[in-house]
Amino acid sequence: MNERANERLRLENDLRRALPLEQLHLVYQPQVELASGRIVGVEALIRWQHPELGLISPVKFIPVAEDTGLVSAIGEWVLHSACAQQRQWQQDYGIALRMAVNLSPVQLQQNDIVSMVNHIVSEVGMNPEYLELEITEGVLMGSDEQVKVDLYKLSLSGIQIALDDFGTGYSSLRYISQLDIHKIKIDRTFIHDLTENSQNASIVSAIVAMAKNLGITLLAEGIETREVAELLARLGCQEGQGYLYDRPLSPEAIERLLEKEAAGQASPT
Ligand code: C2E
Ligand code: MG
Ligand code: MG
Repeated sequence: MNERANERLRLENDLRRALPLEQLHLVYQPQVELASGRIVGVEALIRWQHPELGLISPVKFIPVAEDTGLVSAIGEWVLHSACAQQRQWQQDYGIALRMAVNLSPVQLQQNDIVSMVNHIVSEVGMNPEYLELEITEGVLMGSDEQVKVDLYKLSLSGIQIALDDFGTGYSSLRYISQLDIHKIKIDRTFIHDLTENSQNASIVSAIVAMAKNLGITLLAEGIETREVAELLARLGCQEGQGYLYDRPLSPEAIERLLEKEAAGQASPT
């Protein structure tokens, strides 16, 4: 236990310096339209390249960032970098990708979240409709009214709100109807064995029916096989993301995809 406490303390200390020392970077995982396989957006995912410990997963360091309050500064950096990148890609390739950015519940407790997001969007000059903020159900559970008001204000400026990891929390239908949710991301745990697990297939069908009636777009996370992708499309899920299409990629790798896409648009042969 002592060892674990020490490791945690070290992460905490090192994380304080990670941002100024430029050890954090973003990778981007493509999101595709299932029917065509066309890339419609990317999700920005943070990575920490530690000088001694190597690459550290966000699963490990985001909780530390949340406990220490560092997540505010880190989250702001993520948002700024991702938005600037979206704008740059649109300028360079003429392709407007939707940029999905994960928000920590702790960030949403900040009282200036609305002005912070709006400020970044206008500073980088991006169209707010291409920004999608991913929140988890945990954000909504037991949160005060202010969080809901803030999310509503953000959606008024055209920003899209996506509910991440859907199905793993309370999956409260009340929140979905109360809030202006644009997209539901079905958690990977329901998707990975979809073709063999009829119970999960029934759950996904029910989510599809609900989303359709509410006018919410559905995206399936963690698609790893063609069979699962085909089944999802048949069930009526519109979008997907997963290793079948691409792993989270460097900006350079995304640029190669965009080059191809732009060339295809210029000469449709
Ligand atoms: P998430 O937002 O649900 O992101 C999806 C995670 O699933 C990513 O893990 C991604 O690499 C992984 N994934 C995608 N496709 C597949 C697949 O086909 N199979 C499998 N097994 N995994 C797949 P990653 O990048 O390690 O991120 C983990 C979590 O860390 C994210 O889950 C998100 O909750 C959090 N996170 C990442 N970046 C940020 C950030 O900038 N801010 C905040 N607050 N949280 C972040
Ligand atoms: Mg996410
Ligand atoms: Mg997720």
